Amino acid sequence: MKTIAFSHPTAILAALCLSAFASHAEVNTVEKIGEDIYFHEGEIRPSGHCNNGWIVFEDYVLVIDANFPSGARVIIPKIAAITNKPVRFAFDTHHHGDHAYGNQVWIEKGATPIAHVGALEEMKKYETGLFGDKPGRWQEAAKGRKDVAESKLKAPTLLYKSEMIFDDGKHRVELLHFGTAHTHGDGWAWLPNEKILFSGDACVNGPYNFTGDGNIGEWIQTLEAVKKLGAKVVCPGHGPRGGPELLDDQQAYFIALQAEVKHFFGKEPAEVEAAMPSIMAALKKNERIARYAGNFLPAQVEKAFIEQGGKAWPKPTIPKK
Ligand SMILES: [Zn+2]
Repeated sequence: MKTIAFSHPTAILAALCLSAFASHAEVNTVEKIGEDIYFHEGEIRPSGHCNNGWIVFEDYVLVIDANFPSGARVIIPKIAAITNKPVRFAFDTHHHGDHAYGNQVWIEKGATPIAHVGALEEMKKYETGLFGDKPGRWQEAAKGRKDVAESKLKAPTLLYKSEMIFDDGKHRVELLHFGTAHTHGDGWAWLPNEKILFSGDACVNGPYNFTGDGNIGEWIQTLEAVKKLGAKVVCPGHGPRGGPELLDDQQAYFIALQAEVKHFFGKEPAEVEAAMPSIMAALKKNERIARYAGNFLPAQVEKAFIEQGGKAWPKPTIPKK
């Protein structure tokens, strides 16, 4: 499998030969993972960018995730270096800023933002400023991000309920929904011919599980359903791509998290909070899932605790994404 790396929009600096499954490309480089199918691992720090994918169809390009406006601008020249076909669709895997705030950039390129209907519902909940109410998350993000402040929030306008299919006879991409996970509107892009899955943040590869808008218990069930697709390559929302084990590991992390939290059933929130270092140590001990335990842990533990009937913690501990 050939891997082409572009570390500068106009210059191909390296062309590496890597196995499709044994290794992964560097952050901010384009990786060809199939005929006309590309993966791009976004730079998390300091840019906050998500991962992207794109599929070059006969007449147009479908981009997976709009990213932040600055993230969209990182990949636009990289797509243009590969094809002169227009980007017609940008698929927001969910409503979060690092996956959907770049919509305006794609619209300016002539593309239409697509999402599962649930993603629009989530936007109505959190992007109150867009829907005529008090300032929401976009306005909050604009205070700290120039790219957001200089852009405009655009909601996805092409929506699907259970699936949307792109098929030009050579390539087929199915946009799917399997229930609540990271949010209530997680969309998945499934390429049945190549068995490649783009998961958005419903599956990540590293300490990036923001649980504030979803449901951990349902997330485990949703991953169980997704595993039945039989993906061979999994392109996560953040972190390096992997194989089917990524779905297993992501699910195993939440199962282990729930098991840790169960020990505190009926106890006071303060006791759970005080036990955070030991919960962290227990999760880190399991090699398979250790990489998922990080800064979001207190918020994840609190969420799991509440889902199991526990009380909310006295002080706000859920970090903003
Ligand atoms: Zn997200």
